Amino acid sequence: MRETRVLVVGEMGALREALRAPVREPLRVELREVPSVPEAEAALETFQPDVVLVDWRLPEAEAFLERVRPRPLGLILIGPPLPAPEIVRWLRQGVHDFLLAPDHPDEVVETIRQALDRVQERRRILGLVERLQRQLQQLSVLYEVGQTLAASLRLEEILPPMVEAAIHFTGAEEGSVWLLDKSGEVLRLYLHRSRIPEPEVAAPPTTLRVADSLPGRAIRTGRPILLGPGLHKLDTGVLVRALLYVPMQAHGRALGVLGVVHRLSEAGFSEADVHLLRMLGDYAAVAIEKARLFEAMQTEKGKLEAILQGIEEPVLVTDFAENLILLNRAAQQHLGLPAEAMGRPLRAVVAHEELHALFDRKPLPGHTVRQEITLSDRLTFQASLTAVAGVGYVVVMQDITYLKELDRIKSEFLSIVSHDVRTPLTTIRGYVSLLPRVGPLNPRQQEFVEKVERAMRTIVELLNNLLDLSRLESGHALSMERCSPTQILHEAIQIIRPQAEEKGQALVLEIPPDLPTLYGDPRRLEQVFLNLLSNAVKYTPPGGRITVRAMERDGHLMVQVSDTGVGIPPADLPHIFSKFYRVRREGETTEGTGLGLAIVKSIVERHGGRVWAESEVGKGSTFTVLLPCRPEAPPAPSPRRAREASPQHAEPPHEQQHSQPDPIAAGQAPPEGNPTG
Ligand code: ADP
Repeated sequence: MRETRVLVVGEMGALREALRAPVREPLRVELREVPSVPEAEAALETFQPDVVLVDWRLPEAEAFLERVRPRPLGLILIGPPLPAPEIVRWLRQGVHDFLLAPDHPDEVVETIRQALDRVQERRRILGLVERLQRQLQQLSVLYEVGQTLAASLRLEEILPPMVEAAIHFTGAEEGSVWLLDKSGEVLRLYLHRSRIPEPEVAAPPTTLRVADSLPGRAIRTGRPILLGPGLHKLDTGVLVRALLYVPMQAHGRALGVLGVVHRLSEAGFSEADVHLLRMLGDYAAVAIEKARLFEAMQTEKGKLEAILQGIEEPVLVTDFAENLILLNRAAQQHLGLPAEAMGRPLRAVVAHEELHALFDRKPLPGHTVRQEITLSDRLTFQASLTAVAGVGYVVVMQDITYLKELDRIKSEFLSIVSHDVRTPLTTIRGYVSLLPRVGPLNPRQQEFVEKVERAMRTIVELLNNLLDLSRLESGHALSMERCSPTQILHEAIQIIRPQAEEKGQALVLEIPPDLPTLYGDPRRLEQVFLNLLSNAVKYTPPGGRITVRAMERDGHLMVQVSDTGVGIPPADLPHIFSKFYRVRREGETTEGTGLGLAIVKSIVERHGGRVWAESEVGKGSTFTVLLPCRPEAPPAPSPRRAREASPQHAEPPHEQQHSQPDPIAAGQAPPEGNPTG
């Protein structure tokens, strides 16, 4: 411990002797005496006393004490004794004690020691305050660094303030950031800041190997590298007196090194500096990781956007609140959307009824709904809307205008051909039926005539079905009216009953009398049930059972035709609603055109409903028809929509849509983009 420095201002007199005399507890004192206040002022700086003894009789003594009062010094008055009120006044001036007996060694030492104790206590408190202030300042800078980090994603904005903060708090002369490259073997100098005015003569190297450099060691060990005061040569060739490197780690992975050095100053770095730099290093690592992630994201986003823009089909993406979040050029052009449409609600910027209807159908995440959409430029698109979890709705529109046109030409052709073939056929049929009347036929001839008649019946049935389908598909208007499904079902059953009885099949009916009214074409709906029933009779062996069930379910009429027949193999099941598709079974002689179910599907869809089948080979089949119960006409649909796609209320409720047991939902039968197959 250094000696206690005691400055005596005034006449020392007996004091010197007293301090020299042996005492009970000696005090190591370095004494200095000045005769007047001005000299005392100078000695404050040169001598740096711990305790000052001032003769109160000196001129300016009071002013001097007033001035030194803020300093952490012990202040003692000397001189002749003073009356009590005077002593109190001096004490209030900040004087700590009054030396009454300067010639008494124990008294002198004790007075000085007491003043010294107070001084030390005051110095300790001042030190604490200073430390607290420093920490507070550090915290506020760290807070600012944190703020920058939160506000910015650019390394060039985040890292410089961090290096500045590192230099500032550690008192270093230089600071730098080294970033690890992709290989993890090389460190590149990203940033270097120096407080030393002269610039570097030779530019230091900007890359270092992790394997054999000092900053590399911080990466390899994952620990700070601290070299104390002394001369050290850095890997960059620069001489420094102290250095501190900390690894910048995020999630246990080193991303680089933050370092500070003293080039000229003898001061070293403390544990507190290590702690602070590690904290800054961790901050910096988070910032780097964030910035890189953001950069990678931006790059990916850029690529995706380029791909999206390059796609010829219109594509648009909305969030789940239906605000537009992505849009490609094709979508912009076809839907006539301005660039400002981005971020706005889709329905506010696109006035397209069919597109709105598609969004009304809102599928569950991972599911897709499709609808044909006709735009004002007379183009028809097959739009599919998929709900993508975490993103929103993605709509891709495929141009099917040429398919629609082909379809129209095909239907027209079919209708002309069927019509033109039917007339001569009727003539042939007439003449064939007349043959037995114009002369007796021998048994061989009779057999041939019957064969011709059977073949003619099939051709006529085929032509009728073709014409029927072509009418349905070309949007031929249905005769819609309020109708009773109970009545329609009973009429169909009435027609089919003789055929079932002929095959000894039981017809079981589970049709409640109070089924809801439908808005539909009763003749077409009867055709639906007739086709299903006639198939059930056709494909069920004699003695089998056919059940017709009808019920109301979630605003829909559900009719099921089940049989105990031959069943449909799983491989055929997805195709049975396609035109001309017939299941090939060994030894089967059942006649048919393969158009019955296509007609069923077409009619059901024209009514906004769905039809599907479930079946098990050898056990039987169940065909389910789901029709929306609408007692009145739906609000005026566009003529095109009425002809083509199922409007939104045509769909069964979502839960049902997704829990349908098989993939044979009517919508799946035709290949994509060609609703008529
Ligand atoms: P088809 O005129 O051949 O009966 P459909 O379009 O009515 O044509 O039926 C398509 C195919 O579906 C048929 O070839 C038949 O094999 C099969 N099918 C239809 N209904 C049933 C059923 N109830 N039981 C078994 N198979 C059936």
